[in-house]
Amino acid sequence: MPDFRVLPSVDQMLTSPEGLALIEDHGRLAVVTAVRAGLEIAREKIRSGEDGAALAAELPQRLSDALAAAARTALRPLLNLTGTVLHTNLGRAILAEEAVRAAAAAMAHPLALEFDLDGGGRGQRDDHLRGLLCELTGAEDATIVNNNAAAVLIALNTLADGREAIVSRGELIEIGGAFRMPDIMARAGAKLVEIGTTNRTHPRDYEGAIGPQTGVILKVHTSNYRIEGFTAEVPAPRLAEIARTAGVPLLNDLGSGSLVDLSTFGLRREPTVAEAVAEGADLVTFSGDKLLGGPQAGFVVGRRDLIAAINRNPLKRAIRLDKIRIAALEATLKLYRDPDRLKERLPTLRFLTRSEAEIATQAARLAPTIDAMLKPHGYSASSCACRSQVGSGALPVDTIPSAGLRLTGAGGDAPERLSAALRALPVPVVGHIRDGALILDLRCLESDAALIEALAAL
Ligand SMILES: *Cc1c(COP(=O)(O)O)cnc(C)c1O
Repeated sequence: MPDFRVLPSVDQMLTSPEGLALIEDHGRLAVVTAVRAGLEIAREKIRSGEDGAALAAELPQRLSDALAAAARTALRPLLNLTGTVLHTNLGRAILAEEAVRAAAAAMAHPLALEFDLDGGGRGQRDDHLRGLLCELTGAEDATIVNNNAAAVLIALNTLADGREAIVSRGELIEIGGAFRMPDIMARAGAKLVEIGTTNRTHPRDYEGAIGPQTGVILKVHTSNYRIEGFTAEVPAPRLAEIARTAGVPLLNDLGSGSLVDLSTFGLRREPTVAEAVAEGADLVTFSGDKLLGGPQAGFVVGRRDLIAAINRNPLKRAIRLDKIRIAALEATLKLYRDPDRLKERLPTLRFLTRSEAEIATQAARLAPTIDAMLKPHGYSASSCACRSQVGSGALPVDTIPSAGLRLTGAGGDAPERLSAALRALPVPVVGHIRDGALILDLRCLESDAALIEALAAL
């Protein structure tokens, strides 16, 4: 029979000085739950032969650690040093200060979300963004939903429920997670009509597929992959002509979409939303938190009658935006009215346009300090060249020259061990492992002190 008497009772734990201090920090209920769980684990260990006195001695510390871990949110801010600027798993775009302030104000105060301050009557929540979106894209009208996946879903459902949607086999993409174009089309009620081949689709393929059952022609930005070599696709203006002649709407899903010509910032050109509209698409869909640099959202811009039909779709209510994101989006879109200062104010663009030379200087400056901090733990750091990417399906095959820190240690699993240790920090540091080292790409690190402070907790 194991002897549990060396362990304190729940009551003794709760009234001990350590227990009282924990109750002060975490509240009585959380501490009682943790004490019961801790004692249960200790009893289990005594049963399997461990020393009860030692277990009892370490109980207060274990409790304190467990409660601290439970109190710490997994959603705490971290340092994204992966080199992927728009990392979907790390929350994509970082908002501009103007957007953060607008979102915070919307959270803390009532606001005229669906209220007309001029007339005192009812307003529309999308009105705050419609004017801006039309101004920035040249479209007649616009509507805003939860994300681009929802934008595609509601546009397809509105135009092609119970009807056919024509799409090239080269554009039937999977974006990641569970977003596969054929599945979204099925859920929207549209019957998929695949045309062309994986690498080549011609005008005659579209023309041959159009019939009385056609609800929409869909064009999809292939986002996260490129087909190279013997390829052909129908340019958007030609496709718009085919659609117009047949009297069928053309929906162009741009994915990331951009409101500015990225080549003016030294990046590869991506079709802008304004171009897609000008090329004759009846509706264009794109994301709020990819290249646009705002909060999660999806936009549909284009013909007024089709936008009105989308707004009448009962699905709209189920996928509408909340006030916090509407406020953040309005502030983000307003930054685009001043393109000259956009690069400084919009973090996504600021990160993407940092020069390799500037980042290399930062890496050289930080390397000795970080090396000295890691030495006692058996690791070393040196500056290195690396390559960043945009992420979220934008410019998928392009990488941007960058610089960072190369962290190494003894043993084959050193990068994995260090990577795990950095992820467990109070401010986690997330890099990527390459060629037997943990690489910290400094493209998204704007403050040296942030990394030094984070690593000081190692
Ligand atoms: C990313 C993407 C989507 C989904 O957008 P979310 O904003 O992530 O919902 C849809 N279509 C394309 C082409 C994309 O690149």
